[in-house]
Amino acid sequence: MDTILKSTHIRKNILTGEKVLVSPHRTQRPWQGKMEEDSIQLNIDYDPSCYLCPGNSRASQDKNPHYHDTFVFTNDYAALKPEQTQGEYKKGLLNAQSEKGICKVVCFSPNHSLTLSKMNIDEIEKIIKTWQSEFKELSELSFINYIQIFENRGDIMGCSNPHPHGQIWAQETIPNEIIKKTDKFSEYYTKHDKTILEDYIEQEINENERLIYENEDFVVLVPFWAVWPFETMIVPKNGVENISQLDSATITNYAKAIKTITSIYDKIFDVPFPYSAGIHQAPTDGQSYEGWHWHMSFFPPLLRSATIKKFMVGYEMFVMPQRDITPEKAAELLRKSIL
Ligand SMILES: [Zn+2]
Repeated sequence: MDTILKSTHIRKNILTGEKVLVSPHRTQRPWQGKMEEDSIQLNIDYDPSCYLCPGNSRASQDKNPHYHDTFVFTNDYAALKPEQTQGEYKKGLLNAQSEKGICKVVCFSPNHSLTLSKMNIDEIEKIIKTWQSEFKELSELSFINYIQIFENRGDIMGCSNPHPHGQIWAQETIPNEIIKKTDKFSEYYTKHDKTILEDYIEQEINENERLIYENEDFVVLVPFWAVWPFETMIVPKNGVENISQLDSATITNYAKAIKTITSIYDKIFDVPFPYSAGIHQAPTDGQSYEGWHWHMSFFPPLLRSATIKKFMVGYEMFVMPQRDITPEKAAELLRKSIL
């Protein structure tokens, strides 16, 4: 590896233009930070007090059906709502705008303890198909211009309910991260007639340093510009705007990629690995987004053990993210945990 990458340097995220400071020599420093207690994992199929388990009542008093695979409902505490006051607020230098949207919860399985890593391929395929149909349905609504599919897993990520589930937030305004990526995708596609991620994964496959897993349709890798210690991306080889057109063979390969990375994560520190995972896709405002290449990112907070997590504080809050373990080292450790 180039000597530049062995001492302190700054890496650029080609999808957003943002930067991360990498300090490889700091991995040796003594740790005096917080030790978090392991959460006790109970492996039960059904929890009578869980608001996501089949047949149970939720805060709204609605009762969940006795569902068999996935189950979707509108969030009882939705941050975004379809009906509300419309308009703009302007007063001196202060400015605000109303925002409409829809927040849904997607239960991945009726089994209270069955995480993505423990599901079989067939069960993960059903989740992907649910994401597809929800995406299609929401994208047809005239006031929905962007759809975010995500999963927060583990207490550490603010998810107090272990029942396997994710969320979908759909909204009127195209959010910051998507504006940045849209610009980069469009700029590259205009010049090269290929998506920036198509060329990027080709380079990663050739270099084989940050690659974790590859099948016919997908790669899983630690991006060169990763911010979180064990951050990864699932990237489809075929650069399309969103997940709605994936055929059944591609869905199977996507499910295999999800199963592989989530299983690897659980083996790293021998605990159910916490993370935020999300799918970035092109906006749904009816414009053309040639060059947009959907992808899924995993942002896990753990750093050096099941109890030591990375904090984004101080320099990172005020300047830019910083990491000690290099993406190459993280990729090496992740590859060692492949079954
Ligand atoms: Zn449950």
